[in-house]
Amino acid sequence: MIEDLQQFGPLKTDVDLKPYNTYHIGGIAKYLISPSSAIDLVKLIKYLKTNNIPYFLLGNGSNIVLNDELYEGVIITFQNMQGLTINEDSTIYAEAGCNLAEVANKSIAASLKGLEFACGIPGTIGGSIYGNAGAYNCCLLDYVSEVCPLVNL
Ligand SMILES: Cc1cc2nc3c(=O)[nH]c(=O)nc-3n(C[C@H](O)[C@H](O)[C@H](O)COP(=O)(O)OP(=O)(O)OC[C@H]3O[C@@H](n4cnc5c(N)ncnc54)[C@H](O)[C@@H]3O)c2cc1C
Repeated sequence: MIEDLQQFGPLKTDVDLKPYNTYHIGGIAKYLISPSSAIDLVKLIKYLKTNNIPYFLLGNGSNIVLNDELYEGVIITFQNMQGLTINEDSTIYAEAGCNLAEVANKSIAASLKGLEFACGIPGTIGGSIYGNAGAYNCCLLDYVSEVCPLVNL
């Protein structure tokens, strides 16, 4: 299984999850993998589903509480998916692992308005879209035009 998983990105085994979430809590994960690209992420999830291997998508871990038990499945993180492009037509392309506050700050620096509310939210783009993060009567989905639904493949 280890060799199979390694095809999709850097793999760690028996990983202490405390450094991987905002609250620095949680136990050990048997496997933790950071897919090298969106394509690798799709292939990884197909592999895990086909083989009935449990998995969990972990952003910055700022909206979850991890327990202290051993997690026997695969934790998927997004450190290697942080591509961010601000286009000339004022749209932003951000991969799931981008830090939401960083995207907001870069959009402000590019003279775009809308994401100011997100400057203090410590999540990733993926986790924040999943939960529709918001503040000050604004929320992320007011500003999202398209999501590539890799997880549903
Ligand atoms: C100090 C502090 C302040 C905060 N302020 C706010 C606030 O003002 N407004 C607000 O809305 N929230 C706030 N939060 C909560 C949290 O930061 C947000 O909910 C954030 O959007 C969560 O993103 P994350 O990457 O940490 O997700 P995680 O906590 O890692 O995951 C949350 C959920 O999203 C899923 N997920 C993660 N990544 C993906 C992905 N790529 N694809 C699909 N599913 C995924 C996970 O499986 C999990 O179910 C705050 C938290 C803290 C600690």
